[in-house]
Amino acid sequence: MTFQELKDLLLKYNSFVITTHVNPDADALGSEIAMYHILQNYNKNVRIINYSNIPENLLFMGEGINIEKYNSDTHDIVIKEVDVVLFVDLNTVSRTKGMEVPIRESKSIKICIDHHEYPENFTENMYINTKSCSTGEIIYNFIKETNICLVDLNIANVLYAAIMTDTGSFRYDRTTSHTHRIIAEFLDLGVVPYKLHDLIYDNSSYGKTKLLGEVLSNLQINDSKNVCYMVITSEMLKRLNVEESEVDGFVNYNLSIKGILVGILFLELEDGFKVSIRSKGIIPVNLLAKEYGGGGHINASGIRFVNQKMNDFIAEIVYKAENYINKYME
Ligand code: 5GP
Ligand code: MN
Repeated sequence: MTFQELKDLLLKYNSFVITTHVNPDADALGSEIAMYHILQNYNKNVRIINYSNIPENLLFMGEGINIEKYNSDTHDIVIKEVDVVLFVDLNTVSRTKGMEVPIRESKSIKICIDHHEYPENFTENMYINTKSCSTGEIIYNFIKETNICLVDLNIANVLYAAIMTDTGSFRYDRTTSHTHRIIAEFLDLGVVPYKLHDLIYDNSSYGKTKLLGEVLSNLQINDSKNVCYMVITSEMLKRLNVEESEVDGFVNYNLSIKGILVGILFLELEDGFKVSIRSKGIIPVNLLAKEYGGGGHINASGIRFVNQKMNDFIAEIVYKAENYINKYME
């Protein structure tokens, strides 16, 4: 789908449900909110419905907008009757978790805007650019190319948050001069970088920072000294009163150690566990995640295991990570 076709589709229909992946990050939320503003400009009937709550530190992004947490009793009928379900920052319906079934049953038009690899072919209306650093950047390009609306300070703030976080503060591979030009425009519009950075990153609970300390003092490294991993149990989360979403970002500490090429976080949850994998260079950890039904990008991927025991998989996944390094670093 071209940007022009995307614009035509958006203007053609009247009612929209915007959604994103479980545990939304700032790219997911910023993209949803930017699309919300665009559609509101045309007086469309728009709702944002997400499977998960917004993490505490990103609540500011949705101020003044009703971002609803999915509830099957009230929302299944909305999803069924809406003209369009618009997906941002995900490319498989299963990433909406409990919303998957009602979405698949709905006869609505599905539109997907994303930057992840290996999209599920669930709609012909997809705008996917895996070269983009963030879905936020795609939406900026869409606005500029089609003139569908002006970029105002509201849009600039949420897209700044989207791009800053998904580029690891402008350092990951897909950060380009174009990315920086977009950011320059946002600053000219009045975005204040230190304020957004402070809200997003310097807003942790005491428990989260204590947890980080505990996790860092128990880091594990394999014999070849190229894979580093951390384990967080549900006991630790409970004891320190930390939510799953607050652990976002911990996995990157694994890669801060010299010589480490793959970093892994094992996070135990109520109904299973989650694995976050990060790599340096050409090691495609999305392929590793895919072996277990997960996905993501070359250097950042994840997997969710339901009703399985984390301890049964740790050694196996670390071993596989080592094999990926051996295979791709030859
Ligand atoms: P994170 O480890 O930060 O949760 O996720 C890293 C990347 O992997 C994200 O880009 C995300 O889209 C992808 N990812 C995480 N978990 C899953 C999953 O369960 N399934 C798929 N397909 N992708 C995932
Ligand atoms: Mn993203």
